[in-house]
Amino acid sequence: MNILVLVKQVPDTSDVKFDERGVMIREGVQSILNVFDQFAVEEALRLKQKYGGEVSVMTLAPEQAKTAVQKCLALGADKAYHISDRAFGGSDTLATSYALSLAIKKAGNFDLIMAGNQATDGDTGHIGPQVAEWLGIPHVSYVEQVVSIDNGKALVKSILEDGYRMVEVELPALLACLPPTNFEYTNPSMSGIIKAKSKPYIWWKADDIDGDKSKFGLNGSPTRVLKMYPPPKRSRGTVFTENYQDAVKKIVEALMEKKVIE
Ligand SMILES: Cc1cc2nc3c(=O)[nH]c(=O)nc-3n(C[C@H](O)[C@H](O)[C@H](O)COP(=O)(O)OP(=O)(O)OC[C@H]3O[C@@H](n4cnc5c(N)ncnc54)[C@H](O)[C@@H]3O)c2cc1C
Repeated sequence: MNILVLVKQVPDTSDVKFDERGVMIREGVQSILNVFDQFAVEEALRLKQKYGGEVSVMTLAPEQAKTAVQKCLALGADKAYHISDRAFGGSDTLATSYALSLAIKKAGNFDLIMAGNQATDGDTGHIGPQVAEWLGIPHVSYVEQVVSIDNGKALVKSILEDGYRMVEVELPALLACLPPTNFEYTNPSMSGIIKAKSKPYIWWKADDIDGDKSKFGLNGSPTRVLKMYPPPKRSRGTVFTENYQDAVKKIVEALMEKKVIE
């Protein structure tokens, strides 16, 4: 099994703030490995243990993202690809996924490509499915577990709003992964951190990957951010201050009035 995991470094906060130009404010905010991606890495390493093979990780990001990639190596990944160039500045998700797909083609043949379901900063959930489309391979999102791999197919558990579905997908495929709520993340061991320093770390620039360079960076990004604003605050709703029996009666009446219940 040859597995590649796409990873992204993100600010360590869910309260992402932007300046007046719409550029993310990174000062004073620590950066971490996107938690969805750490889950994908840990799931890939579990598959490696079961089926053998190699786990590589790849990021398209400025140099400072090396700390997040290094963490993946310390957790047990074998090899890293870091694509970094000014030419990628201002990329939207389409340009990012295009450049990643070219780098993946150059890196070799992978049976499985794994990604986080979403990044906690951009949070679009675009990259996984877009990369799969550029590569012309199937993808499954909201993957909580790879149950088995057999006969060139993976059986995966994909989470739905009100349950889950089991999906059989032909390999090579891309899986966008979602950690279970109670997932316990592993901290890299000291020996893992030391070993990580001598693992292959491959740097590529824009010129190192073949493709249509007009699709890179801001020029290749059709998305235009016209305005950014927080969603309006939800009103507090009706507060019932009576004793609980009367409050329940009033709530039932209110729900019946709104035809939520009969
Ligand atoms: C108009 C526009 C301009 C932008 N300009 C910039 C800019 O100048 N600088 C900048 O840093 N960002 C910029 N961005 C944001 C950037 O495009 C996104 O951060 C990036 O494309 C990933 O999207 P996302 O965070 O929504 O990831 P999602 O699609 O939510 O991420 C899902 C998964 O995809 C993988 N993934 C995501 N991004 C990467 C990556 N870069 N490398 C490897 N794997 C990845 C991870 O596994 C992640 O869990 C811009 C976005 C737009 C729309």
